[in-house]
Amino acid sequence: MKVLDHIKEAKDTLISFEILPPLKGKGINAIYEHLDPLMEFKPSFINVTYHRSETMFKKKVDGTFEKVEVRKRPGTVGICAAIVNHYQVDAVPHLICGGFSKRETEDALIDLNFLGIDNVLILRGDAAKNEASFEPHPDGNRYGIDLLRQVGNLNNGIYLEEDIKNGGMTNFCMGVAGYPEKHFEAPNLQTDMDFLKAKVDAGAEYIMTQMFFDNKKFIEFVQKCRDNGIDVPIIPGLKPLSNKKQLNILPKIFHVDIPADLSNAITKAKTDQDVEKIGTEWLLQQSRELKEFGVPVLHYYTVGKPKIIYNVVKELV
Ligand code: FAD
Repeated sequence: MKVLDHIKEAKDTLISFEILPPLKGKGINAIYEHLDPLMEFKPSFINVTYHRSETMFKKKVDGTFEKVEVRKRPGTVGICAAIVNHYQVDAVPHLICGGFSKRETEDALIDLNFLGIDNVLILRGDAAKNEASFEPHPDGNRYGIDLLRQVGNLNNGIYLEEDIKNGGMTNFCMGVAGYPEKHFEAPNLQTDMDFLKAKVDAGAEYIMTQMFFDNKKFIEFVQKCRDNGIDVPIIPGLKPLSNKKQLNILPKIFHVDIPADLSNAITKAKTDQDVEKIGTEWLLQQSRELKEFGVPVLHYYTVGKPKIIYNVVKELV
């Protein structure tokens, strides 16, 4: 079932989770062990992130180095199929532009369609580790909106292969990313908002946000979206803080602010357990306020500490 249909049919705030594919070499059981306790909350859907390959230099026997592309985590198609099959819950694969030609993307979409997966979260992806800024594949999509248009074309039976006439139509529900604190490359929030509006005008059916720790920023973002004529559902992405290092790492990687009340409390915490307790209480408070505000779904990034998410949602429902 599509994310949008879950939202339309909901009588209360929905719950959803995001997971990472296991590292290559680890089995699917690692995912089941991670998700099993959380399934008690009957999530409406489970998102699976995509991680592009990294360029590495491997030393050869003759002492010279060879450039190799290493993908540390497998793709999303298989793991989404496993989740649907194992839990009978909808899976939402993240689909990125970076590293893919349009043809490879089309093949992945065809595979997803054959598997009955009818949701995709459409993203540009970040620059590869060896790039200063994002570079699309020479035959790939540059922006999220270009990938969105490709999926939209397939939904209308338009394939890259011009020989295919009256091609079978896919039926993907298309979600896109939004940034309450602005995407880090955008010169200002209004420009970012204009590009977000363009994605919605091009067919995006809902927005899923970057994590944030200050609900005020999310609420202002929703208001700004509405003022700019963006009227699709906006799903907040939520992550718990669980260790002191995150106070510096999360702003660096995700370009988000951590409110002073929260960072001060964590800095003063004496033990790891104290940090987890503060992170849990903050996330619970955020969740309660957002539910009250009327968000359609509370979407939790479960990486690392699913136990915190378990405790928060248990308290909430
Ligand atoms: P875009 O919409 O393409 O926007 C990128 C930048 O370009 C923005 O600054 C925007 O303002 C600007 N822009 C957009 N259109 C144009 C245009 N036509 N001309 C000029 N500028 C333009 N990354 C992964 O690699 N894997 C994941 O699984 C993943 N999951 C994510 C899930 C969520 C909920 C979020 C919020 C992000 C996720 N990301 C993931 C990170 C995402 O790929 C990066 O934030 C990326 O830098 C931007 O992706 P986007 O789809 O928002 O890009």
